[in-house]
Amino acid sequence: MSATLIKGSEISKKIKEELKVEIANLKENNIIPGLATILVGEDEASKVYVGVKEKTCKELGIYSERINLSAATTETELLAIIERLNKDPKIHGILVQLPLPKNFDETKVLYAIEPGKDVDAFHPVNVGKLMLGAPDYLPCTPHGIQQLLIRSGIETDGAEVVVVGRSNIVGKPIANMLIQRSKKGANATVTICHTGTRDIASHTRRADILIVAAGKPKTITADMVKEGVVVIDVGVNRLETGLAGDVDFETVKEKASAITPVPGGVGPMTIAMLMYNTVQSAKKQAR
Ligand code: NAP
Repeated sequence: MSATLIKGSEISKKIKEELKVEIANLKENNIIPGLATILVGEDEASKVYVGVKEKTCKELGIYSERINLSAATTETELLAIIERLNKDPKIHGILVQLPLPKNFDETKVLYAIEPGKDVDAFHPVNVGKLMLGAPDYLPCTPHGIQQLLIRSGIETDGAEVVVVGRSNIVGKPIANMLIQRSKKGANATVTICHTGTRDIASHTRRADILIVAAGKPKTITADMVKEGVVVIDVGVNRLETGLAGDVDFETVKEKASAITPVPGGVGPMTIAMLMYNTVQSAKKQAR
């Protein structure tokens, strides 16, 4: 079998088209969704990510305020900027690009963002609401994964899902979202694997849907999956040969029924869901 490609690049375009309609409706009520992005330091990958977010805002008609700070900025200065943005009615979403330079307390900075403007959904209030099954915002990458499954017609209700990775950004929240009671894009039985898991393959071979967010190329090889599995590869690894995911794509695609490519899979969905959260925040203000 050669797998169907789950093209995040195409599904994200559809989501952005839907958002353009919502943004036009908001503009009729004199509300322009606004996103502030804060970049501290000179991390090259972070510059690229912030650039893509800014470009997507422009494409959709979202007001974008980009704040570039030198690595010499103090935590107090950064917290003061967040405080200003928390109060700014033009801004509906605040995003602090991670990782921050080592001298910053990342937790303290993320907790300073007003939960109503926390469009990354990293604030403990939003993490807690997600776990309780009543989220205001869903974190962007897990939400992107869930949308890929729903919009590709992949049934999660009753499915065996295995997640490889337990980060706060991907592994834990996607597992939490998929165990929720809703039958649409959830109601699955979820196993989470990590470096403490004794025999990872014994779990991954059971998966109807395998979600891999380990940050290491070829974490999953063909012998670790069953025929017909749906594979969502979240990994982004910069190799000399170009970008690669965490899954050995060439061999796993021969056994899978569907698989996301890297690039062009989860990545574009993350950006689309960030825009989605910003628009939802603006809609709340309109109400
Ligand atoms: P992370 O914080 O480094 O977490 C990686 C997780 O994978 C950890 O829980 C780790 O286990 C586990 N792990 C690592 N190697 C493993 C192995 N061989 N077997 C089992 N578990 C293993 O990474 P992250 O932030 O979740 O990101 C994961 C990957 O997704 C990265 O490549 C990142 O760049 C990518 N990513 C992509 C997007 C996107 O939009 N496309 C968004 C976010 C992240 P321990 O906890 O035991 O250490």
